[in-house]
Amino acid sequence: MAKTQNKAQKCGKKILFATSEAMPFIRTGGLGDVAGALPKSLNGLGYDCRVIMPLYGGISGEFRQTMEFIGSTYVRLAWRNQYCGVFRSSYNGVTYYFIDNEYYFKRGGLYGHFDDGERFAFFSKAVLESAQITGFYPDVIHSNDWQTALIPVFLDVFYRGMDGYRDSRTVLTIHNIEFQGQYDPFVIGDILGIPSDWNPIMMWGEAANYLKGGIERANVVTTVSETYAEELGNPFYSYGLGEIISQRRYKVKGVVNGIDTELYNPETDENLKTRYNVKTVAGKEENKKELCELLDLPYAENRAMIGIVSRLTEQKGLDLIAPVLDEMLAADIQLVVLGTGDWKYETLLRNAENNYHNKVRAIINFNSGLAQKIYGGADLFLMPSKYEPCGLGQMIAMRYGTVPIVRETGGLKDTVEPFNPQTGKGTGFTFKTYHPYDMLDAVWRALGIYFDKGLYKKVQSNCMKSDFSWTASAKKYADIYNSL
Ligand code: ADP
Repeated sequence: MAKTQNKAQKCGKKILFATSEAMPFIRTGGLGDVAGALPKSLNGLGYDCRVIMPLYGGISGEFRQTMEFIGSTYVRLAWRNQYCGVFRSSYNGVTYYFIDNEYYFKRGGLYGHFDDGERFAFFSKAVLESAQITGFYPDVIHSNDWQTALIPVFLDVFYRGMDGYRDSRTVLTIHNIEFQGQYDPFVIGDILGIPSDWNPIMMWGEAANYLKGGIERANVVTTVSETYAEELGNPFYSYGLGEIISQRRYKVKGVVNGIDTELYNPETDENLKTRYNVKTVAGKEENKKELCELLDLPYAENRAMIGIVSRLTEQKGLDLIAPVLDEMLAADIQLVVLGTGDWKYETLLRNAENNYHNKVRAIINFNSGLAQKIYGGADLFLMPSKYEPCGLGQMIAMRYGTVPIVRETGGLKDTVEPFNPQTGKGTGFTFKTYHPYDMLDAVWRALGIYFDKGLYKKVQSNCMKSDFSWTASAKKYADIYNSL
């Protein structure tokens, strides 16, 4: 405790992490995981990092009971004047602030409402407004994705003159550039209340674009892997924002995510029948046996099981799997897929299960316990993403000794090192081109190693010894904050 205080005194920087979701309160994807883990690690480094997020109707009573009302104010959005309550809670030693407005946030789901542009404009402005209640004027405001990308813009347009914000700096992290908050230009005046001389900042093409505005005004823009940061200059990956990313390249940096290594730990995971570590990894075979029983698949000792745990969408590379699935299943393997998503991919996999009843299981569902059983039981993990800003699946798989087969894109490229049988170095099997036969080639290479038990053991233990904790990434964010 005394040690932490000393560090805090040494560093003293106040970071406000603004996010539209955070574990354990509510989450839909990777951003929620980052918001749940990074602030804790930063505080461990001596920062005072606090999180601010909307008080959604979907946040459970169990968490609401821990919250304390600390005040309210009003937030102006052009001609609107909207109530803004502020609640405070603490979890794992991190202070969380919640912005309360039932009109905007007491609804089903987090995103996908007709007025999301107004809801998150309100939240972004409320983040800045709430300091008068919390008394927490940050040195750095760290925004995430389009939902909070307006904060650096609002800061410069409305709040720069205030004492508490005069020296505040901003970081914007892009977790997925596909989602940008694009709207009719009338929102700039009618919702954001921003004078029209700011249009060149807010406009991109013929639309108002929240993410683009944030990229323009943030002091530093980060993405969740170094390779994704590079890729964003390329039209294949940038969803139209490549040019602006290239122009602002001098302030774009990549910091790869970590995973929660306490939560994802094969030594303690209660979802596993047999728990194991790198020395006792042979026990993993028992989990494969159990998984086969659970899914009513025949078990055989030397048959490779390939696992997939994923959203079933174009992004995840399912278009590569479809054309070569029959060829792949002609080999003596089993394929277990857990996921939900687009109907066409769900149908593809359901049909594969019907056609190959002893080889394929397609569980079209979201089931965290079963996901862990797949990580703990499968031999190989297939993740051939078209693009992947960072990706968690491959890191969890490696932690569980399930060797990944991935496309060399984004975070997959940065976290999976191709295995070299000559040197015994590397953690998985990779391919570059977005082509089904390149993927299939990587699958055959992986199977070749699987059948050579010595080499398979080597790559498996390389995986399990890799460090995917947040510590290293938190230090990189700390360097960025310190540089501002
Ligand atoms: P993304 O955030 O793009 O969906 P990631 O690989 O970053 O992909 O994170 C996905 C996370 O969600 C992983 O932890 C994965 O295990 C989990 N997941 C994905 N689909 C399912 C599912 N159907 N059931 C349980 N967990 C899932």
